[in-house]
Amino acid sequence: MSFRIMPKAAVPDWITWLRSRYRVVGPRQLKDQFVFDEINSPDELSLDYPTSILPPKKYLLPPTEELFQFTTKGMHTKASLEPRPTVIMGVHTCDMHAIQLLDRVHNTGYADQHYQARRQNTYLVSIECLNPCTEHSFCKDMGTLSVPENFDLHLTDLGDEYGVDIGSEKGEELLRGFASVWDPTEEDYRHVNQVMAEKWPRFSYRFNFDVTELPDLLALSTKSSYWNELGDLCLGCGMCTKVCPTCYCFNVKDEVDLSLTEGHRVRIWDSCQVDEFALVAGGHNFRSTRALRQRHRFFRKGKYQLEAYGLIGCVGCGRCAAACLVHITPVKTFNELYRRHKQGEAVEAQS
Ligand code: SF4
Ligand code: SF4
Repeated sequence: MSFRIMPKAAVPDWITWLRSRYRVVGPRQLKDQFVFDEINSPDELSLDYPTSILPPKKYLLPPTEELFQFTTKGMHTKASLEPRPTVIMGVHTCDMHAIQLLDRVHNTGYADQHYQARRQNTYLVSIECLNPCTEHSFCKDMGTLSVPENFDLHLTDLGDEYGVDIGSEKGEELLRGFASVWDPTEEDYRHVNQVMAEKWPRFSYRFNFDVTELPDLLALSTKSSYWNELGDLCLGCGMCTKVCPTCYCFNVKDEVDLSLTEGHRVRIWDSCQVDEFALVAGGHNFRSTRALRQRHRFFRKGKYQLEAYGLIGCVGCGRCAAACLVHITPVKTFNELYRRHKQGEAVEAQS
């Protein structure tokens, strides 16, 4: 929509000003890591952070969420829809792509009212990534190194100031009445172009193939012995899915009070990697081995979501790679599948 300049010195006043109107959350330091948390004073906000343990997804899909309350007196239920207007500051572009996927998933078919209510009351302030977050990032391969169009405001660090792209009416609202922003000069535009041109060479490609080949590579790898090797390694702990910005599988539980007359239904994050995830009535487990579950996970990331929603299911944030105690990573997995596929082709050509 439009572009403005905000000096960094004005950011604390802006945060204070936003806090008087909205809940403000963003990256803040916790020992040597960063977490998305409520910002109670401007100095808690760390916009220049590498990555966060959990993605900002937790404000749209909380780890535990009450769906409704019920009482047996007349069998009444009451939906729990009380979203607080929330500004999420400093969202990296990979996490913005993840939110784009979550939006599509939760607005397709049986639209999720709880997600929608939260999302409508969420303001997204993203930030341009100028350096790779960690050694595990592969956003350049996944095409998530530029912000998608779902931001309300998008910040670019220009040294002493931020370039502020305004992407929506909600973004305008976050600046309305705040005096310390101004129109850019020609020099500002030149500076933005220079910063953007300098950032790309800092990121490298990690895949040995183009990401557009990934769905076909996976289809050709359905019977690969590599899934058994991953299954032998995997601990089934579910950490990789817990930290993932695009995972949204959940369990539902009814919690009843001691009188047995009222209670509430809650939705809790679940993981396709834990042993009991696919356990159904009669004791049948339709994904009973870790090999099958690993295969499912990577197919979901590289193929299924794309086919179902038109967006790839992995945004290259690298959180799962950092979290996995046995070093199972998407980059290693996809490159190894590619290597074996190429090797198979070479053997076929020789015979
Ligand atoms: S974090 Fe690693 S060990 Fe744990 S379930 Fe995921 S792949 Fe398996
Ligand atoms: S699969 Fe791993 S790298 Fe991909 S989005 Fe999820 S956590 Fe990030």
